[in-house]
Amino acid sequence: MGRLWRNTTMSDDHLSELYQEIILGHNRRPRNKGELNPFDGKGEGYNPTCGDEVTVFVRRTAGGNPIECVHFTGEGCAISQASASIMTSAMSGKGDEEIRAEIRRVVGMLTAADDPESVELDEWGDLAALVGVRKFPARIKCATLAWHALEEALGGS
Ligand code: ZN
Repeated sequence: MGRLWRNTTMSDDHLSELYQEIILGHNRRPRNKGELNPFDGKGEGYNPTCGDEVTVFVRRTAGGNPIECVHFTGEGCAISQASASIMTSAMSGKGDEEIRAEIRRVVGMLTAADDPESVELDEWGDLAALVGVRKFPARIKCATLAWHALEEALGGS
């Protein structure tokens, strides 16, 4: 796994701890949790293997684009709820195209068969913690759940 984290001088173990802290922190104090009312789009996700539920709400700015804010509700494991919290923080205020590109990037990174060449930690911020979930294949669906729900909430294509 060393290659995945090559942009840092920290060891894998330290990074795993850091990622775990980020995940647990978001799970304890989720950002943007609660229904949006009114909202312009809503997407729901359910992960039967873990029992995770996430509903994502988006509200658009007056012109329709960009998205003004993204909120979520739900319950489930720490990874599913932290992923939703990290996602809503990172995506609020972005335009449709940018959000769709981010969904592809994050889901692609989590589900790729091969290790990605590198992850720019500075650029990814808390999202990098989600990439750490790659180490636990059984939990990848927990991490992607909110992102698929966001895609549904954006509507159309
Ligand atoms: Zn889960």
